[in-house]
Amino acid sequence: MSEIIQALTKILGPENIHCSLEDRMCYSYDGTFRTFLPDYIVRPKSTLEIQGLVKLAVANKIPLYPRGAGTGLSGGSVPIKGGIVLDLTRLNQIVEIDVKNLLAVVEPGVVTGDLHKAVEALGLFYPPDPASLKTCTMGGNVAEGAGGPRAIKYGVTRDYVMGLEVVTAAGEIIHLGGRTVKNVAGYDLTRLFVGSEGTLGVITQIIVRLIPKPEAKKTILSMFPKLNGAAETVPQIIARGIIPATLEIMDDLSINCVENHLHMGLSRDSEAVLLIELDGDKEVVEKQAPIIAQICQDNGASEVRVARNDAESEELWKARRAVSAAIVQLNPTKIAEDATVPRTQVPEMIRRLKKIASKYNLLMPIYGHAGDGNLHPNIITDRRNSEEMERVEKAVEEIFKNTVELGGTLSGEHGIGLMKAPFMKLQFTPEELHYFREIKKAFDPHNLLNPGKIFGGEESDGLFTSPKGN
Ligand SMILES: Cc1cc2nc3c(=O)[nH]c(=O)nc-3n(C[C@H](O)[C@H](O)[C@H](O)COP(=O)(O)OP(=O)(O)OC[C@H]3O[C@@H](n4cnc5c(N)ncnc54)[C@H](O)[C@@H]3O)c2cc1C
Repeated sequence: MSEIIQALTKILGPENIHCSLEDRMCYSYDGTFRTFLPDYIVRPKSTLEIQGLVKLAVANKIPLYPRGAGTGLSGGSVPIKGGIVLDLTRLNQIVEIDVKNLLAVVEPGVVTGDLHKAVEALGLFYPPDPASLKTCTMGGNVAEGAGGPRAIKYGVTRDYVMGLEVVTAAGEIIHLGGRTVKNVAGYDLTRLFVGSEGTLGVITQIIVRLIPKPEAKKTILSMFPKLNGAAETVPQIIARGIIPATLEIMDDLSINCVENHLHMGLSRDSEAVLLIELDGDKEVVEKQAPIIAQICQDNGASEVRVARNDAESEELWKARRAVSAAIVQLNPTKIAEDATVPRTQVPEMIRRLKKIASKYNLLMPIYGHAGDGNLHPNIITDRRNSEEMERVEKAVEEIFKNTVELGGTLSGEHGIGLMKAPFMKLQFTPEELHYFREIKKAFDPHNLLNPGKIFGGEESDGLFTSPKGN
């Protein structure tokens, strides 16, 4: 152990290596409830230091776990085999904002919200907006293929990544993609790395596409006594040729939790709330807002609030932003899923989720991105209650079976990580999984980069009740 510490110290100096129990505990968790202790935490500042660290880890067969802000919701960064946690938050420079080529070059530890602010100050826009944007990092966003409410109109992180610098498991520094709008030379390894969850290489620099900032926006909050009314509203808006920037839904349990928390006058009898935001040219937004309000009313909305200015818009967004925190008042353990179905299957998926919650007698507020079919059924439980955790595990499996049955996917934005690895076989055939494994082997033949993630294996069996880890 001391030899490893000496070797790490040679690369980083002593101040950026941490091995005390307190430090190891701080890096043992992410946004899920599973925890595993690493042996060492290293905090490099440059690509060359990362290259040295990867070479050292591979030469000594030590697992290496890349980590951004640790906000992941699939157990992506937790070090399930111990080893080294590679904290990338010191690589936090916005290297360049190129206004003429509409792109930005960033280091992986840049906080997503900081990039938003920097480009918006120049009249530009980086649309991917995970709700965690004040904390999460660009490296974590790329590695998870993060999305957010604006995905319905603007797409997700994958749609904005133009190029990457990566340190491979062989300790090489490679450059993928580039700065051109068009680029079809060779295999598209850039896209392969988006969503690779730290299993193929360490991302050390990112080039993202920017677009002009929309001129105006308009926010509408609409309450529906019946869930069906809200569900019908969504495809009707799209059918009118209007693509809102966001189209969010919250169910009755979520509404009541938010109302307990904020007292903002949401109707507790509503079965659903829709939060809709339009953006674009001022004239267009002003023309579309009343059309949307009318569609909501035609579908039985009991109240439609249209924000008149930014302050009122912020007020309406408070409800959606508070929901994640508000629901944990019900119980301390939150299992946040991101089952995603085709947009038209959202009403059926919500019906099925409600049945699952009732069958297993679980608290399951549902909210999410109705516009793109990405729902967040959250099971609110207490991990100390082992009998309930067994029911939770069965419910989660049923959620995924239903998602796949409706033509959906295990994850719209949170990734597979540790928590969903056992369910990959529900979505993919053995042949398809074989190709995934071969890609992993080609990039990381010794399985040292984020081992135990995506593919499953013994570490990820019995996720909710397993004695391994915590
Ligand atoms: C309250 C809350 C709200 C959230 N809302 C959203 C949302 O709206 N949309 C959404 O998509 N997600 C959301 N998330 C999940 C999470 O914020 C995202 O997955 C985010 O992309 C993770 O970024 P991070 O910096 O925290 O990465 P981490 O959690 O540290 O790591 C995530 C994964 O990326 C890998 N990784 C990190 N950096 C690198 C790198 N430089 N090179 C290679 N691999 C790397 C890690 O190994 C791990 O597998 C939310 C989380 C919370 C807690």
